[in-house]
Amino acid sequence: MSKEMRAGTLSVADYAEGVRCSDPVMLARAITLVESTAPRHAEMAGELMQTLLERNGHSARIGITGVPGVGKSTFIEAFGLHLCEAGHRVAVLAVDPTSAISGGSILGDKTRMERLSRHASAYIRPSPSGGALGGVTRKTRETILLCEAAGYDVILVETVGVGQSEIAVRSMTDFFLMLALTGAGDELQGIKKGIVEMADAIVVTKADGGNVIAAEQLRLELAQVLKLLVPATTGWKPEVLACSAVSGSGIGEIWAMVERFRSEMMASGEWEVRRLRQVREGLFEFAREQVLSGMAGSPAVQNDLERLGAEVAHGNMTLRAAACRIAGDFLAEGGSL
Ligand code: GDP
Repeated sequence: MSKEMRAGTLSVADYAEGVRCSDPVMLARAITLVESTAPRHAEMAGELMQTLLERNGHSARIGITGVPGVGKSTFIEAFGLHLCEAGHRVAVLAVDPTSAISGGSILGDKTRMERLSRHASAYIRPSPSGGALGGVTRKTRETILLCEAAGYDVILVETVGVGQSEIAVRSMTDFFLMLALTGAGDELQGIKKGIVEMADAIVVTKADGGNVIAAEQLRLELAQVLKLLVPATTGWKPEVLACSAVSGSGIGEIWAMVERFRSEMMASGEWEVRRLRQVREGLFEFAREQVLSGMAGSPAVQNDLERLGAEVAHGNMTLRAAACRIAGDFLAEGGSL
């Protein structure tokens, strides 16, 4: 690494070169650049993404969810290692809704997936923190693109079963996998919260030792539940499998299923449809973020907040009327984004 690089004066070309060479340190720095909301960084990030544009899109993006303790990190480690051994390059990203709220994290603990993180063909990035969930998902969408540009052909995006973050991850991935646990109860596992409706497959974890029979029972029950639901992806009947990340049983079958999904959906055109939907949702989300940060930094809005705030506080104006005026003034100003 050159002296300028250590000093933090990297140019867009330096970042692009580092990402293209799949240098993990440079990839990490490029992701940090893209995650930054500082105006100078945002400008460079915009140029970087433009430079890498032609390298995007050539991966399988897989969303993975399940309640804490279901075995996500153990599964991702076993699944990721299986893929790396088969010649793939695997990036693991996380969307952790708690990191946005508390700055803490359910996911993203650095001691997780230790073996996978040491594999030369794997890259693991914890959830971006700070800001609202919208900010976290915007950053993750761009991180997916950077990882693709760095040559990772399987992107695993992990989240944790609370609802909103599943919707976000579903909207940025091609295939959505829900992990389920024996003995945890439907309520807890999000079976009734609509998460199961988003799944292209459910995998019952920890199907080993004394848990094999219970895992098979749950697998059959979940298969019955799925039969009653409208499939998440047109033309694909969601499957229910069981695996053990400890013994390795069922891990290969899960990847075979994803590959079958990909080839069938590519043949039917549904793959393209889903990618287009991912782009539209990402676009709207990003544009909304831009508007919000533009509003937060607008002098006209600050002015209105003070002036109209006093009017509302003294009972001379309704909250609604003042809010409409503020939004209107921002738009009239041309909204410097
Ligand atoms: P997460 O919170 O969803 O990431 O779950 P973890 O991967 O941390 O796993 C929770 C617990 O389940 C840990 O004690 C793991 O050792 C255990 N576990 C995970 N996968 C398996 C498995 O395939 N078989 C068995 N027997 N235990 C497992």
